[in-house]
Amino acid sequence: MSSKLFHHLRDEARRAPESGITAVIGHGRGRPGLIPLWVGEGDLATPGFICDAAVDSLRGGDTFYTWQRGIPELRAALAAYYRRQFGADFSDEEFIVTGGGMHAILLALQALAGHGDEVVYIAPAWPNFAAAAEIAGARAVPVELDLSENGWTLDLARLEAAITPRSRAIFVNSPSNPTGWTADRSTLEQLRDIARRKGLWLIADEIYSRFHYDDARAPSFLDVTQAGDSILFVNSFSKNWAMTGWRIGWLRIPPHLQQLFENLVQYSNSGVPHFLQRGAVAALEQGDAFVDEQVERARTARDRICRALTATGRVRLAVPEGAFYLFFGIAGVTDSHRAALDIIDEANVGLAPGAAFGAGGEGFFRLCFHRRLDHVEEAAARLADWIVAR
Ligand code: PMP
Repeated sequence: MSSKLFHHLRDEARRAPESGITAVIGHGRGRPGLIPLWVGEGDLATPGFICDAAVDSLRGGDTFYTWQRGIPELRAALAAYYRRQFGADFSDEEFIVTGGGMHAILLALQALAGHGDEVVYIAPAWPNFAAAAEIAGARAVPVELDLSENGWTLDLARLEAAITPRSRAIFVNSPSNPTGWTADRSTLEQLRDIARRKGLWLIADEIYSRFHYDDARAPSFLDVTQAGDSILFVNSFSKNWAMTGWRIGWLRIPPHLQQLFENLVQYSNSGVPHFLQRGAVAALEQGDAFVDEQVERARTARDRICRALTATGRVRLAVPEGAFYLFFGIAGVTDSHRAALDIIDEANVGLAPGAAFGAGGEGFFRLCFHRRLDHVEEAAARLADWIVAR
């Protein structure tokens, strides 16, 4: 890029990496017959009852500036949702509506980490948290999961060793994008204890908690923390209710931080459109059956893709416990970016290269199996052929 005053742009902005996922998408976009399993979303459009609520609101004139923290009806619906799904009693005051999960992460970082600070996160990881931390001027410090016959596991001693006097927070995404690793209750308790002992905030990204294949939901920090713990929950309407394009999510915060976060909303997106929030209320109030159907379909897809790839005898994988991704390695592949391009050209399947999820992801691929089953099966067959032929 050349522009006269390029050097006046902030270093952090100039250094922000292009997503390794979009780099591969650019290679394959628009190919006839390609099965795209590279992005983190399903193939179902938002259900009609959610769209209707938003359209009615839009037509009814909800087109003005609105509450920065979120409309009262949505914050009340969030409190009711937590009561129903998690047995947790929160007041409406503990919710801040955001422009998607990404905006929730950004606000958490704005509150917690800037120049000279460090944030610890568990990797391989969806790249956006670390990139946003680094753009804020902080250093994002990865702690790699290990893959063994026991699945993906977290070495808590290694995590503790990554903490320095500059650390401000630990970011925990469970169930994990991309690995499907899901912290059990004991791991959550130990993470909580480390955070308490070291005086660190926890940022809990549990946006996939409903996509859990052993139970109705994944273990949550909500189960092991109390009022008074320093924890921020980032969450999103994107995945549960097929609303990725809406850009709406939320933060669950300690109530005394409400004004602080409202200020951060004011000075970033100044609030989420009122009519979108009306759609989100409908999602929370009427969307349980839709979420359950999606999870069941994803479970079947997960089982089929894992079976097909395992049968090649040439992949490394742990059957994901949660989220809707398979993170797998192919024997002999060391350059996942190059191989993802070859897989597009030769198998007509779009995968995200593991290197996009950090150095520990090299040699792996992320496959999103949250799609109609005939597409997942066709993709599995094409991939199995490609793997066996190489
Ligand atoms: N956290 C994780 C772990 C994610 O995978 C994503 C989306 N890929 C987000 C947050 C952000 O979600 P949103 O689309 O609501 O910004």
